[in-house]
Amino acid sequence: MKTLNEICTEYQNIVYDLEEALTGGNFRRHREPGKPKIILERPSHSAAIERPHQVKTQTGEGQSLAVPPASAERASGSRRAFTGGSFLSAAANPAAALEALAEEVRGCSLCPLCEKRKQAVPGVGVINPLVMVIGEAPGAEEDQKGEPFVGPAGRYLDKWLEAVGLSRHVNAYIANIVKCRPPENRDPAPEEAAACMPYLLRQTQIIRPKTVLAAGRVAAQNLLQTGEGIGRLRGQSGTWQGLPFLATYHPSAVLRDPQLRRPVWDDMKKLKGLIDAQDAGQADAGAAPDF
Ligand code: SF4
Repeated sequence: MKTLNEICTEYQNIVYDLEEALTGGNFRRHREPGKPKIILERPSHSAAIERPHQVKTQTGEGQSLAVPPASAERASGSRRAFTGGSFLSAAANPAAALEALAEEVRGCSLCPLCEKRKQAVPGVGVINPLVMVIGEAPGAEEDQKGEPFVGPAGRYLDKWLEAVGLSRHVNAYIANIVKCRPPENRDPAPEEAAACMPYLLRQTQIIRPKTVLAAGRVAAQNLLQTGEGIGRLRGQSGTWQGLPFLATYHPSAVLRDPQLRRPVWDDMKKLKGLIDAQDAGQADAGAAPDF
């Protein structure tokens, strides 16, 4: 029997297939005022499709974490990215597909977070990264600059990445669960995270990272669809969308509580091991740096 997670993933794939099959590119999405659900509308008629609600599962300490992988087509990267009237093959031209997706995000009004943002923050980094870091949401500086993790927490994250040979400019990609800043930096609401999740999935399909690192509770809970705390989720390797996955603390939390630096360093070494295991087996990331 299929799990609820698997059914949700299939449902999401059906929505994408409808886009491609029915519209030939003349498809547009909008959010109905006051109703945070996804509307798929054609010029002549419309049909409302609500995303499935978040699924909560309990995860005990020491258990492996897993979310059902996407379909074989998505995992292979053959999914095409939709962009304002034309399709680009993500496999043939991932950079163009990624930019087209970013443009779509910048014009998005699928959830109420569009109303107070200065600008949407699609993501930053390289195609085929060694790691895709997924945070929670843009903050004030990110909202201002249009790039994720550019404030103090972002600079701290860059230090973590640098400690294991990673950089957003060379071999990493950084994105968030939601692409627009929640007012007062509150947690994204479940319906906001659900509305934005397809963008994250499409980014993942386009850039095809080797590993995924969730930074913080909100990212880990939304990706793993669990209500478990970050203290229990961090440090446990598993899979997300068929990719090696690890969760750690958010850089902001570590800046507030220096005692978290040690577990973060342990997590970064584990991440390095996951990356190295993709190519040539386990690696030793060396002694802990002073971050
Ligand atoms: S948070 Fe995501 S779904 Fe909501 S308006 Fe921004 S881009 Fe669209």
